[in-house]
Amino acid sequence: MADKFDVVVIGAGPAGYVAAIRAAQLGLKTACIDDFVGRDGKESFGGTCLNVGCIPSKALLDSSKHFEHLGKHYASHGIKVEGTPQIDVPTMIARKEGIVKKLTGGIKMLFKANGVTGIHGHGKVLANKVVEITPVAGGDTQEVTADHIIIASGSVPIAIPNVEYDDEYIIDNAGALDINSTPETLGVIGAGVIGLELGSVWRRLGAKVTLLEAMDDFLAAADKDIAKAAQREFKKQKLDIKLGAMVKKAEVVDGKVNVTYAQGDKTHEATFDRLLVAVGRKPCTTNLLSSDCGVELTERGQIKVDDECRTSVEGIWGIGDVVRGPMLAHKGSEEGIAVAERIAGGKPHVNLDVVPWVVYTEPEIAWVGKTEQQLKDDGVDYRVGSFPYAATGRALAMGESAGMVKMLADAETDRLLGVHIVGANASELIAECVVTMEFHGASEDLARIVHAHPTLSEAVHEAALSVDGRSIHKVN
Ligand code: FAD
Ligand code: AMP
Repeated sequence: MADKFDVVVIGAGPAGYVAAIRAAQLGLKTACIDDFVGRDGKESFGGTCLNVGCIPSKALLDSSKHFEHLGKHYASHGIKVEGTPQIDVPTMIARKEGIVKKLTGGIKMLFKANGVTGIHGHGKVLANKVVEITPVAGGDTQEVTADHIIIASGSVPIAIPNVEYDDEYIIDNAGALDINSTPETLGVIGAGVIGLELGSVWRRLGAKVTLLEAMDDFLAAADKDIAKAAQREFKKQKLDIKLGAMVKKAEVVDGKVNVTYAQGDKTHEATFDRLLVAVGRKPCTTNLLSSDCGVELTERGQIKVDDECRTSVEGIWGIGDVVRGPMLAHKGSEEGIAVAERIAGGKPHVNLDVVPWVVYTEPEIAWVGKTEQQLKDDGVDYRVGSFPYAATGRALAMGESAGMVKMLADAETDRLLGVHIVGANASELIAECVVTMEFHGASEDLARIVHAHPTLSEAVHEAALSVDGRSIHKVN
């Protein structure tokens, strides 16, 4: 007879593994099935995020940042380096791998400690809440049944026509995290979050990086002022970002990648040593649903869910990248916790209107809530405040004076509607803005709260003061 669980989770990324742990904490008999296999051929829990996404990209961003600062910025602190700094790419990659192994091994350990049955295999939802599992290493399939199934199968990189991945010259994010020596030239298709982050890594290590972005607007999802400020900094760094550049074709000839792209009515050719395709991700539903299981998809191929992550079949849920909403690890994790608690009879809530976004470039970019453009489009009457990093003592002390905080608040009620930051540690600074928004706070709340001196958080404080035209350290 098939094993029976209270909860079977398909996918052990940040949505799935978190859901599984929370379900087990609540006393539910839980299994979590995952089919990820790394480039080393090894099975590993943690999904895209831990294996080939958030964590390894941040490891390389930090290594490459140290390298760039050593070569370009340390001299101004009076720190001298004999000769030219060298980067040992294999050591950097090995360090990244070590971090990934530590964290993915940690998930295995957490599964064990919480009593989650972790299974390396491919899960397929059959009718009547049966899940068929095909072992990753091959062999006989097995069936398990569950009162609840949580689908957390995540997302995979999008491919574009006439640009075929070969995992050597034309690569996706996993490939770009594993290049073993700095290419002289790197082309990146897509100047979105992933393209900018991974493009920055290899530029800092010495590659000449060109980003080809189809849209005319840079970082269209961000507030325009912030995107403009970031673009200015990237230009200074010689990250070559070509906007309105639609890639039509790429082919590998004699160990180089020839790319054809259209810009306006002109067609251009460019040649790179490697080409990273970072044009976005799509929901992963490959061989996931039997035709009679009843789970419906949206027009965009996502698992169709309601506000509480219920699919079209009672007892089957969808969370993370495979459903609507931003494709961000923390969004999926919160959905995972909420669904587990809902299954256990709780009434949790996830507010998708207050999800922070972060781009880990230098300067970092982070935001939460509405952009100024969205408020205009929605006809909302708002007040705006801003404060430059350059007027913040700590930013100057750190040598990180590029950047600004921009704050948007309702003109009548002063309720905080959006905060947008470009600058050092924006990823951390955004947290207090998220909390304020989640508590329905006002810009006045942030303006009245004591912020430690000297810290970058004073720029948030001053931006809040500036909403009311009473910033102290700049002329209002
Ligand atoms: P995933 O992490 O994709 O996990 C899904 C898992 O399910 C995978 O292991 C997959 O193999 C498995 N699976 C799929 N189908 C099946 C099946 N049928 N049976 C069994 N297993 C299956 N987000 C952030 O918030 N911050 C960042 O800094 C960030 N950086 C990123 C950098 C890069 C380079 C990339 C590519 C992504 C980044 N993201 C970041 C996005 C983040 O990785 C995703 O939003 C997140 O991983 C989604 O979590 P998930 O659990 O929904 O899916
Ligand atoms: P993101 O969604 O943040 O991962 O960003 C992906 C980016 O790739 C978006 O800004 C898209 O506009 C861009 N993009 C998609 N297709 C193409 C293409 N064929 N050529 C250039 N850029 C593209």
